[in-house]
Amino acid sequence: MRALVKKARGKGHFELMEMPRPRPEPDEILIRVRAAGVCGSDIHIFDDAIKTPIHTPVIVGHECAGDVIEVGSQVKDFAVGERVSIESTKVCCEQCELCLAGNYNLCKQRRLFGYWYDGCFAEQIAVPAKRAYRLPPHIAYEEGALCEPLACAVHAVNELTPVAPGEFVVVIGPGTIGLLTQIVAQAEGAHVAVISTPSSSPRLRMAERLGAALTLELEKDDVPARILEATGGKGADVVFECAGSPKAVDLGFDLVRKGGRFTLEGLFGQFIPMDFDKVAFKEIRVVGALGQKRSAWNISMQYLAERRVNVAPLISRQVPLEDWEKAFDWTRGTAGREHIKVLLIP
Ligand SMILES: [Zn+2]
Ligand SMILES: [Zn+2]
Repeated sequence: MRALVKKARGKGHFELMEMPRPRPEPDEILIRVRAAGVCGSDIHIFDDAIKTPIHTPVIVGHECAGDVIEVGSQVKDFAVGERVSIESTKVCCEQCELCLAGNYNLCKQRRLFGYWYDGCFAEQIAVPAKRAYRLPPHIAYEEGALCEPLACAVHAVNELTPVAPGEFVVVIGPGTIGLLTQIVAQAEGAHVAVISTPSSSPRLRMAERLGAALTLELEKDDVPARILEATGGKGADVVFECAGSPKAVDLGFDLVRKGGRFTLEGLFGQFIPMDFDKVAFKEIRVVGALGQKRSAWNISMQYLAERRVNVAPLISRQVPLEDWEKAFDWTRGTAGREHIKVLLIP
């Protein structure tokens, strides 16, 4: 089968090549991939600039949906023909305190599809049945490919920073994760302001389309003044940093109200200096959010089943696997950042 492979460590070393068809273990299901999302972290894997453990050669890709075409001998929960999406986690130790509490997204031994184990930029992928989730009947494969980033946003919002109806939320960085965070916070009844750098400002139109209460562009708008004005001089109840930018963190500390919450979804890939006096003087609760886990998936699938969130507008382009370079360029935003989620259709 055709698959996109990172052949060796270092920058690049990507090749679309012929790979053997995966064989499911007794506890696994084999999935025919119908749609796979290109993630910002796939760009980091290409660049070899990410702290998540990588083992090459490996088929890249960790966001997908498809059909079950074979089930292992021990699998009882799935049947051939069912439509599913999958977690990015393949393996964790299942024994440490974190795993036993269901927080295996933090397990030291956690290993991911598309990093350590063969991922979904391929015609087929074999995954443990317990990492798969049935798609609601009205959810298309293309939307199903966004379940993994949706679960990341749900983990950050519902599990780590619950928002109450009517609260004022700021999202900095309107990429896929930022916009999904907006969608989930809105589903919980929050008013959401989305803030962008000038380079990503085309994505603010999407934030508006999705129902943002306010969209602001750095350098053009007086962002702190506008947020104060929108909150009656108080500041935002919650800030989600989804840009992975040191400036966004500092701005976020300024925008959040006294006693407010600040959740970090972006990664920086380097040491960054931060003014923690701002945290102390306002008693801001700061928390980091990493990936997703079963509990977040269950909430995500419920959101989709009940049509409380709609991820379809985020899908910008769909191209065959052969055009992966174009898809990566659009995701990287080299020629302009109007695209949100680009899908590969193997
Ligand atoms: Zn991802
Ligand atoms: Zn563990």
